Amino acid sequence: MSHGQAERKPRRFPLQLDQIPAGASAAAAARASREVLRPQAPLQQAVQDRLRQTTPQGVGLDSAPVRQRMVKRLSAEGIDHPGLLDAFARVPRHLFVDTALVNQAYEDTSLPIGLGQTISKPSVVAAMIQLLCVRPGLSTQAAQAVPRPDLAARPLGNCLEIGTGCGYQAALLAHLSRQVVSIERLRDLHLKARHNLDALRRSVPGWPDVRLVYGDGMIGHAPQAPYDTLIAAAGGSSLPQAWLDQLAPGGRLVAPTDDGRQGQVLVIVDRLPDGSLKHSRAGAVLFVPLKSGMT
Ligand code: SAH
Repeated sequence: MSHGQAERKPRRFPLQLDQIPAGASAAAAARASREVLRPQAPLQQAVQDRLRQTTPQGVGLDSAPVRQRMVKRLSAEGIDHPGLLDAFARVPRHLFVDTALVNQAYEDTSLPIGLGQTISKPSVVAAMIQLLCVRPGLSTQAAQAVPRPDLAARPLGNCLEIGTGCGYQAALLAHLSRQVVSIERLRDLHLKARHNLDALRRSVPGWPDVRLVYGDGMIGHAPQAPYDTLIAAAGGSSLPQAWLDQLAPGGRLVAPTDDGRQGQVLVIVDRLPDGSLKHSRAGAVLFVPLKSGMT
């Protein structure tokens, strides 16, 4: 019975070759020959989709005014380096934190970034970077035998960051440095930072690059040494010798360090032009521990 019905009805799908009108196939062929082949189009689309995903929608955090409010607060608290304030105005902090936390991205609060680590609050990050921007060795370095006019716009010169985390501070440093090398010992965070910073570089033309290193920051990074500035986002019981060794004359290091009695304090070390080291300290701080090895 069903066999008989099939015989009566003409088959509609798939079309037999003799059922395709000659004109239609000719037109399709002509269209195909005019089309530009774009084998990379799906890849470009995937990148755009990915960027859209990492940009939280509908919370108004993409707007510059939200960041400007944070900048005003920092400036009211005594941050007055114009380049640093400008960096805070540019770097979208909400793109570096988990989607569930974006509403707090511009509050002055530290936030978890996964694997038990935290991104420091903006006021602490700003205070530490400002200490580097106003390092005493800057003027002597700028006036050396080989003048370095770039130091006015990029006061951090060749900068080493210990503890990349999600990459937020590295992005700020990149706006103020000739080069930033940033080391992270946790592979997943190193990859997260790479993803965050790559996305920004793809979406904002001219966004400065950061050299990300997966490794143990306690040994610094000798291949790019010496550094004009070194900043640590994790604190140990003492300053690793490698950091001091890799600090250039006129350079400054800022790092949280346990001082035994007071707990963690911010330690500042300047390498004077004659090569000697001058230690000083700022107030008490609370950073995640500096650990050796990699995971
Ligand atoms: N600057 C980061 C904050 C990261 S928190 C940001 O903006 O997100 C501190 C980071 O230091 C953690 O990711 C931790 O894994 C890392 N860290 C701790 N000890 C380290 C070491 N010896 N070498 C490199 N990174 C280290």
